[in-house]
Amino acid sequence: MLATRVVQDQGVHVEGINFYTGFCVEGHTHAIRKRDRSRPKRNNALWVAEQLGIKMHIVDIVDEYKQVVFNPGYGYGANLNPCLDCKIFMVKKAREWIEKKGFDFVITGEVVGQRPKSQRKQTMPIVQRDSGIEDRLLRPLCARNLTETLPEREGWIDRDRLYNFSGRSRKPQMTLAKELGLQDYAQPAGGCCFLTDRSYSVRLQDMWNARGERRYELDDIMLLKVGRHIRPAPHFKLIVSREEGEGNFLRGYRNQYSSLELTSHGGPLALLDGVPSTDDINLAARIVGRYSQGRDSPRITLDFRTSRGQITALHVAPMNPDDMPDDWLI
Ligand code: SF4
Repeated sequence: MLATRVVQDQGVHVEGINFYTGFCVEGHTHAIRKRDRSRPKRNNALWVAEQLGIKMHIVDIVDEYKQVVFNPGYGYGANLNPCLDCKIFMVKKAREWIEKKGFDFVITGEVVGQRPKSQRKQTMPIVQRDSGIEDRLLRPLCARNLTETLPEREGWIDRDRLYNFSGRSRKPQMTLAKELGLQDYAQPAGGCCFLTDRSYSVRLQDMWNARGERRYELDDIMLLKVGRHIRPAPHFKLIVSREEGEGNFLRGYRNQYSSLELTSHGGPLALLDGVPSTDDINLAARIVGRYSQGRDSPRITLDFRTSRGQITALHVAPMNPDDMPDDWLI
């Protein structure tokens, strides 16, 4: 928002590109879960565009992005986040986009030293070189710390009216936001996608291990964001809803996965991923019982439903929490 406003204020026409990878934090989890109801449920990219009065182009890169996640040439960050390769990829896509649409340069909101892997002074030229954008990439918030770019040289942009922010502190940005009258903006802490999240990365790696290969579809990476994931054996796992919103979301997958749902008590909905045997299904039912309102009852009843809609009633004793090994919870 800041970078756009700074450039807009110099009379430049700006349009936004929002790349959709499927790993984005904003949007899904927030929309699915019932808690945090007070926070507006909105698509942040569109909301930002509306605030700035610009056109926003949402570009789906789910399939192309997989190669970035599987094989990042510059490696991963602390988790499965391929931040430097990701930035190179997105700037390259943006370059291709502007070349096709007749725009002159790309701006980003990057700040030198803000992120340990992708926004260091040494990595910024790498993004320019490997994406092919070279000097057509302007970073208005830290431009005065960097080499002059084409729009500055050509006089399209006045370098003196750009900024020299650096480092991890967000205070200068917050001050500028205030000056520009921007009061509401996405929270600056944390990464912009789930790949920076440790527990999400553990789940993703677990899924790859179970499949014996690095592979995912959009539904897979959506489901990794939702519920408790419990793997009692390498060949199957349960995804157990933690609250009503998640239960509703998981219910939408009942024609792709077999599922378990309590009928004797209130309780979560669980999907079964993999190829569980009859014993596994009974074990899964006991685990689901552990998270239900029947957890203290001697027996509970659940419907086991196949993805084709065949239903079998199961009667089991809920699992004692002490009997479930900690390492089953992914
Ligand atoms: S946090 Fe995610 S979206 Fe952001 S640069 Fe890193 S990998 Fe890319």
